[in-house]
Amino acid sequence: MRQHIKNQFKFCPFCGKEDTFIFDDVKMFTCSNCKQTYFVNPVAACGAIIETPEGILFAKRKYEPRKDFTDLPGGFIDLHETAEVAVRRELEEEISFVPEQLDFLCSYPNDYIFDNMLYTTLDLYFYSRLDFVPNVVAGDDAKDIEFVKREDIDMNLLAFSSTVKSIEYLLKNIK
Ligand SMILES: [Zn+2]
Repeated sequence: MRQHIKNQFKFCPFCGKEDTFIFDDVKMFTCSNCKQTYFVNPVAACGAIIETPEGILFAKRKYEPRKDFTDLPGGFIDLHETAEVAVRRELEEEISFVPEQLDFLCSYPNDYIFDNMLYTTLDLYFYSRLDFVPNVVAGDDAKDIEFVKREDIDMNLLAFSSTVKSIEYLLKNIK
């Protein structure tokens, strides 16, 4: 069952009282004691779909969640960082290669559970088509890097629902 973020807050972060939240179930809760309202919005993350003559670049996940599953390179966007900068930083960290051109492609929400905490993300995907196969090195939280042709992608091995949806979007909209 889908976890709900309201179950993760036991005390009001403003006045410290216990179990005082009134949650509207969509995007905010209000403390019944101090009346402070707290908005719950998605956590921004980014990913890159890099397509080469050998196929799309995927990185196998080194760590939980979804360890060993196939994922697109990417990660969380830092505070005050743009998505454009974040996706390039993540590519440098994970595969030691950054394409010159990366265009925004699509976005999908995802539930990311780390250390028993649910982060409801909005994953922003960028796309790059290369006419060469780049030299890449798996680093950071990527275990292995592989290139997979469009027709050989196994959706069951993809790490997250947003990974699946972004690849489906690509197959449907980018020929
Ligand atoms: Zn309060």
